[in-house]
Amino acid sequence: MIPQRLPAATSRIAPPDRLLPADPTARAIARRLYDSVAALPIVSPHGHTDPRWYAENEAFADPSSLFVTPDHYVFRMLHSQGVPMEALGIPAKDGTPVETDPRAVWRLFAANYHLFRGTPTRLWLDHAFAALFGLDERLNTANADAVYERIDTALKLPAYRPRALFEAFGIEVIATTEGALDDLKWHARLAASGWKGRVVTTYRPDAVTDPDFEGFRANVARLGEITGEDTATWTGYLEAHRKRRAFFRRYGATASDHGLPSARTANLSVADAERLFRAVTTGAPNAEEADLFRGQMLTEMARMSLDDGLVLQIHPGSRRNHNAYVFARFGRDMGADIPGRTDYVAALKPLLDAVGNEPDLSIILFTLDETAYSRELAPLAGHYPALKLGPPWWFFDSVEGMKRFKAQAIETAGFYNTAGFNDDTRAFPSIPARHDVARRVDCAHLAELVADHRLDEDEAFDLASDLAYGLAKKAYRL
Ligand SMILES: [Zn+2]
Repeated sequence: MIPQRLPAATSRIAPPDRLLPADPTARAIARRLYDSVAALPIVSPHGHTDPRWYAENEAFADPSSLFVTPDHYVFRMLHSQGVPMEALGIPAKDGTPVETDPRAVWRLFAANYHLFRGTPTRLWLDHAFAALFGLDERLNTANADAVYERIDTALKLPAYRPRALFEAFGIEVIATTEGALDDLKWHARLAASGWKGRVVTTYRPDAVTDPDFEGFRANVARLGEITGEDTATWTGYLEAHRKRRAFFRRYGATASDHGLPSARTANLSVADAERLFRAVTTGAPNAEEADLFRGQMLTEMARMSLDDGLVLQIHPGSRRNHNAYVFARFGRDMGADIPGRTDYVAALKPLLDAVGNEPDLSIILFTLDETAYSRELAPLAGHYPALKLGPPWWFFDSVEGMKRFKAQAIETAGFYNTAGFNDDTRAFPSIPARHDVARRVDCAHLAELVADHRLDEDEAFDLASDLAYGLAKKAYRL
């Protein structure tokens, strides 16, 4: 069994016309558009797959560690229904024993598969099961063991190694995300390996730009050690960032990424920035100082982007590690990040006053606050040359989330102030599924515009291709 080019996957659990309009006129147009983009290469400019997979190219261990334990979309839903994360084999930081039998994890997952009804996770999983493993039946308790065997057997074949899957998925380029202090050894190993798959890194400096990040002061000291700069001074600290950005660019980075509680930015004088830097790195900064520093660093990063060309991604508005118990036991990124209300218009003004009219700067904005689409984000991106809108993020990377984005943002921002699609995933087998869902929803939307004569069909073909491929490549300079 060899993985097929995945967009064509059809089975009872992944029917060929899924997500295309029900109206026959619109469906026929959507079908033509979709057929023109289904097999385009995947450009994945933002995500969280592990570069080690591609560097080592070892077989994935078992079905549970491929589909369940790394995917916080999966275990947050199960957790919400009272399934203990320990029973799902999520590694605990505090030494609590957790389930180590992947078959037991899989059975528990299968017994609870109905919980994913109506969610994008269900679409992604069914697509992967059908396309990669030829499954034709919904996962359930009765077939759990047989499905496990089938997937487990396949994972031992050469065709299911990370690099072979990467190629079968049609990935042209994928970006991973590494912290500013990362040594990028897996990227170095990849670069030396001679494999032609293109895997690039992304500069994610939150651990050294956010005074509320665990270990911030030690992290800043470490930044000094690895760059040979004196990060006890503001100028040395900024120089250290420049050096790390250059190092990341050597491993293909075309973007930085910033995950912050708000979109606040600041543009302080050098003297005020120095004072603030001293306050956050030597004392115990108050909440206002910490927030102001994060905001100042966004503007500093934008200035550095003008020099080195990195695209600046801003992912604000997540209340990270909301569940204190889960954070204490399991750590960060465990599905307990909850969206908060986010202001952009006032928050971004200092940064936009500094660099917003620079046509050579590319700032990609994301939101977890959908009320900002039409009120703030689309008007901003439809005006400032430096701004583009990222695709619906996280909870909104879903069929209805994408439709809401299109309904609320496109008329004001236009398609060409958006950045195409990001899969933003840690779950490797879901990558083709996520891109396929986005392509189907895009084609369904374009077909409606053609059917009611807002767009000519030849324009819709151009846009379908741009949305699936060209916009992401251009916005991220890949
Ligand atoms: Zn991300």
